[in-house]
Amino acid sequence: RMRVLSGMQPSAESLHLGNYLGALVNWVREQDEYDAFFFIPDMHAITVPQDPAELRERTRKTAAQYIAGGIDPEKSTLFVQSHVPEHAQLAWVMMCLTGFGEASRMTQFKDKSAKQGADNAGVGLFTYPMLMAADILLYQPKGVPVGDDQRQHVELARDLAQRFNSRFGETFVVPEAFIQKGGARIYDLQDPTSKMSKSASSPNGLINILDDPKVIAKRIKSAVTDDDTVVAHDRASKPGVTNLLEILSAVTNTPVDTLVASYEGKMYGHLKVDVAEAVVAAVSPIRERTEQLLADPAVLDRLLARGAEKAREVSQPVLDAVYERVGFLPPF
Ligand code: ATP
Ligand code: MG
Repeated sequence: RMRVLSGMQPSAESLHLGNYLGALVNWVREQDEYDAFFFIPDMHAITVPQDPAELRERTRKTAAQYIAGGIDPEKSTLFVQSHVPEHAQLAWVMMCLTGFGEASRMTQFKDKSAKQGADNAGVGLFTYPMLMAADILLYQPKGVPVGDDQRQHVELARDLAQRFNSRFGETFVVPEAFIQKGGARIYDLQDPTSKMSKSASSPNGLINILDDPKVIAKRIKSAVTDDDTVVAHDRASKPGVTNLLEILSAVTNTPVDTLVASYEGKMYGHLKVDVAEAVVAAVSPIRERTEQLLADPAVLDRLLARGAEKAREVSQPVLDAVYERVGFLPPF
């Protein structure tokens, strides 16, 4: 079976509806078809400041939400990045293979460091793509399902794999980015031309899957729409209503056209009530299951420990080969 690898940063308490519909739902499908590796990139999270106690809690919560959303730790390999030391070890080798100019061209670094002021940004933000290359190359996946924003980083991982192979001999599978097209893209409820984002959206712009149903309903009710009252699908002129229609379409598996037809002559209020009801119905079981999993963190931690063991069965031999090829003296 073809191997794939994916992850989401533990950068918030809860995944939002975009993470769920745009990523997790696809992952659940992929685990039946592929040899799937899912991880929680906590080492990437500290490229920007994190509160230690919060980071630990969010890492657990993110793992619980993966499982509650349908990732089966028996079918897939589910682990926390920092539990597998080969990530940091291979990242160093990748940094030594990367040109300074090459790393400086990464757009995520340019964006995120500009936000913090270039001199204040941590060097980790700069070397993030080399850690990501290590994450990928350790597992030799054929494909890396990512959103469009990660395409450049996967390109770098490809370049580094090819560079290593030609300098030191065939070692890495050269991975391909599977840009997820079909997947839903969910927009901010208050600013429906920007994507819903853990770090960039205001609380009222988010639908968090762990939120109380009342909070979810309230946020959907106050979602930005537009001045006229016709329920129509048009991303350019009606981004707010279009977002609500696409959310409803994704959670109810109903084509958008069918939905639009059913709202003929009805007002936005009806649509919002239906969206709230459908979203709550879709995410409530996930919230409840997440709460159950978090009630017994020891069980969850054991699952993650087991996942890290499975991951290391793959990552250790790859790192050993790399160390041998670059000329490190074996320790015994
Ligand atoms: P951050 O703001 O910290 O970058 P994020 O909300 O963008 O967080 P990520 O952890 O970067 O979330 O992404 C996790 C996964 O969720 C990725 O596969 C990404 O493509 C997907 N994703 C993120 N936001 C959306 C969205 N609004 N709609 C659909 N998919 C999304
Ligand atoms: Mg993101």
